[in-house]
Amino acid sequence: MLSGKDYSKYFTAPDLKEAKKRGKEDIQVLQFDQIPEEMQGVGAGKKYMIETYGCQMNVHDSETIAGILEQMAYTRTESHQDADIILLNTCAIRENAEDKVFGHIGSLKALKTEKPNLVLGVCGCMSQEESVVSRILQKHQHVDLIFGTHNIHRLPHLLFNALMSKEMVVEVWSKEGDVVENMPKVRADGLRAWVNIMYGCDKFCTYCIVPYTRGKERSRRPEDVLNEIRDLARQGYQEITLLGQNVNAYGKDFSNITYLFGDLMDDVRKIGIPRVRFTTSHPRDFDDHLIEVLAKKGNLVEHIHLPVQSGSSEVLKLMARKYDRERYLELVAKLKKAIPDVVLTTDIIVGFPGETDEQFAETLSLVKEVEYDMAFTFIYSPRDGTPAAKMQDDVPMEVKKRRLAKLNDVLNEISKKKNSILQGQVVEVLVEGESKKNPDVLSGRTRTNKLVNFVGPKHLIGKMVYVSIEKAQTWTLKGKWVEEVSKSPVA
Ligand code: SF4
Repeated sequence: MLSGKDYSKYFTAPDLKEAKKRGKEDIQVLQFDQIPEEMQGVGAGKKYMIETYGCQMNVHDSETIAGILEQMAYTRTESHQDADIILLNTCAIRENAEDKVFGHIGSLKALKTEKPNLVLGVCGCMSQEESVVSRILQKHQHVDLIFGTHNIHRLPHLLFNALMSKEMVVEVWSKEGDVVENMPKVRADGLRAWVNIMYGCDKFCTYCIVPYTRGKERSRRPEDVLNEIRDLARQGYQEITLLGQNVNAYGKDFSNITYLFGDLMDDVRKIGIPRVRFTTSHPRDFDDHLIEVLAKKGNLVEHIHLPVQSGSSEVLKLMARKYDRERYLELVAKLKKAIPDVVLTTDIIVGFPGETDEQFAETLSLVKEVEYDMAFTFIYSPRDGTPAAKMQDDVPMEVKKRRLAKLNDVLNEISKKKNSILQGQVVEVLVEGESKKNPDVLSGRTRTNKLVNFVGPKHLIGKMVYVSIEKAQTWTLKGKWVEEVSKSPVA
């Protein structure tokens, strides 16, 4: 534990050379402690609010943070005014995400003045960055608590210090990270659950901050993952998503067993959860055994998110993605052969330093060849501390915008075409709830993660149903309820 003034020695600024020296051997599996006696019941009659930015990893971390706070008897609120603790679980992936958080921290100052006992905390990836912590210490003294992505299990102790101390409490380990088991969780709904299978990333793509903010790749032991999934099945969850920055590197850090992502998927396949997804996979680590297992289908859905980032081998090399266009396309061909109805989605960056018109055209041609059903597309922007930030960001913004618009047009056209194939077909839909736009309409997702809206009785919410698709749009499908799926697809 440390107070603000000498915080700097607890940070390591992102350093590619240093980070790459990380070893695998010293990963420890720790067990989450009981809530310390002095913190038991401390939240009785008090409320917490968590605001989550960024990716699913953060969403799931917020479920863990909520679980810990509820073990201390805090209850959730969605109102700043009612909250006794507000935690901002932040994202560092893009600069504008950070600006948004700083704007919000500033706007909470008035509330803190009005309610001096309010505990205001900042956690998540931004708090792993030295520049962020230093800015908060200098300019946002109304923040009470900062903790990092490796320190979540320490929350009861940190909160105790924040409640007792007048100084800002800062605990951010730049340590590469352990695996902490038995963390309590409050899951968002009783239908779909996220399950971490591994943490961190060792890929070091040149534009990405994650290997520095989330530490080295470390996998949870198979028995811990499988027990968690069995427990979710017993509780009636219908869908799980296995989560990691690079899920198919799972198991590569085990020194005493040989058990990789394909082995895990094969074991998860035998558990009675109707749908199993995973995100995010890296093309480099997608091996033949994994493809073979995914082709067995059952509860393993035929949807793979396979980030490509660029269609140009030269750009991929500068990005240090560790595959080239040909190798990526070979993998896609293998997947399509093994799983003929596979739906592929991806992530693409446009305007990477030095990207020429010809290289961008290669991205367009790859998109047309693969025929993604959907893609998350981004304009490149440098992140401090990453190797790409030292490259000349020489593609003018108007060119980046033009390329993005062109890419999205091509993707939309493909999406519409792919969706229209579903017209007249009956698809299996997991009903999530009422549609956001119209409470008389129900909304759910297919195995391939496509959003389907249809009219049906409310008792279908939470169930698996068959819907006949009547109209395909670019992003959604409209259909007619046919029947409830009578039994789970998995025995
Ligand atoms: S694999 Fe993903 S998380 Fe890892 S460095 Fe590359 S982009 Fe970042």
